[in-house]
Amino acid sequence: LVETSYNRIKEVDGQVNAFLTLDEENARAQAKELDNMDDKSQSLFGMPSGIKDNIVTKGLRTTCASQFLDNFDDPLYNATVVDKLHKEKAITIGKLNMDEFAMGSSNENSSYTPTRNPWNKDYVPGGSSGGSAASVAAGEVIFSLGSDTGGSIRQPAAFCGVVGLKPTYGLVSRFGLVAFASSLDQIGPITRSVEDNARVLEVIAGHDKMDSTSADVEIPSYTKALTGDVKGLKIAVPKEYLAEGVTPEVKESVLNALKVYESLGATWEEVSLPHSKYALSTYYLLSSSEASANLARFDGVRYGVRTENADNMIDMFKKSRSEGFGDEVKRRIMLGTFALSSGYYDAYYKKAQKVRTLIKNDFDKIFEDYDVVIGPTTPTPAFKVGENIDDPLTMYANDILTIPVNLAGVPGISIPCGFSENGLPFGLQIIGKHFDEKTVYRAAHAYE
Ligand code: GLN
Repeated sequence: LVETSYNRIKEVDGQVNAFLTLDEENARAQAKELDNMDDKSQSLFGMPSGIKDNIVTKGLRTTCASQFLDNFDDPLYNATVVDKLHKEKAITIGKLNMDEFAMGSSNENSSYTPTRNPWNKDYVPGGSSGGSAASVAAGEVIFSLGSDTGGSIRQPAAFCGVVGLKPTYGLVSRFGLVAFASSLDQIGPITRSVEDNARVLEVIAGHDKMDSTSADVEIPSYTKALTGDVKGLKIAVPKEYLAEGVTPEVKESVLNALKVYESLGATWEEVSLPHSKYALSTYYLLSSSEASANLARFDGVRYGVRTENADNMIDMFKKSRSEGFGDEVKRRIMLGTFALSSGYYDAYYKKAQKVRTLIKNDFDKIFEDYDVVIGPTTPTPAFKVGENIDDPLTMYANDILTIPVNLAGVPGISIPCGFSENGLPFGLQIIGKHFDEKTVYRAAHAYE
């Protein structure tokens, strides 16, 4: 399997650019070891996997696709999720491309060569976990891990025609995930099938004392939940999710999917998420505020690249940051610093926190009466490379349907649900109650 994986990478990755770093020697050595083992019962035994490059891997370069971390070749520890994968004998093939520090929706913010959509290389794979989605879609690995702060697993999964889950906030440890917006970030699996996805989540979920926001909840068997039975399932379809901006072909395939659910004995009704229209502005204020604080650690002293031409310490901080960060990262730090500054804190940051609660309450209310919320993952299929690059606001609008899920902390999955006229896939998003990944997977599997 490991050989097949590297052969496939050699064949296609020159065009797809999903990988930033390969770990060939280690992966081969591990595969040999596994070949000689008697006990082959571990749940991910020998599975070739890719890890998004903002997830720390011991001794394996971790760059967050930033020039700032270009030389971060030798991290001292593994993220908890990586240790958990290795315990179940998955093999790390390499590290995957992304938007710099997970800020972006197209992979074009990678400071290396951006990943391309394997279905059509003129199109973006989505982001920020573009490399994670593309590597699975292109058959380079069996599964990958991505991170999702505001859609970054689900949107690329939709654009690349694969399955991506953002777990409930707190279900998967963030220890070793380079923080973007700590109150929103979650690691999750990207796979070809719902079953594979459930299998990987079973391994990476669970309480971790190294992450103070990790929830101490029982982890059920997600794979056992895949019964195919959705009789009596109550589906809510927010009218805001099929409104203006959603292209007719996306809308039509979501309605077709709902027909499939009806034929399986589920029912659906239209509902409203009245505050979702504020989700985008709320998200960009909160995530940028948190990012401005989290990224303060990149000072040229402790991590990554230090400027070569500084006269004094302050100059060294400034120049290291000016040279190391790309434009989008600087934009977020400036926005976040502004929103947190004393004169504007109440008007922006605090207000956004209040609106976040309203958005969460919208979901809580719907979940009193329904089992899942269903809609499209994105308003449109993938766009062309370069199409939105000079227009950050259009780029941000891409995440309009995924972001409310992060703000509410609930789980959401994207599964393939159709193709555009020009052959590009798009996704169906299924959202569940807090810690009810079981129902999300069951619903996803029944449609798949
Ligand atoms: N596209 C969103 C952003 O740029 C989401 C990123 C993410 O989920 N990491 O912030």
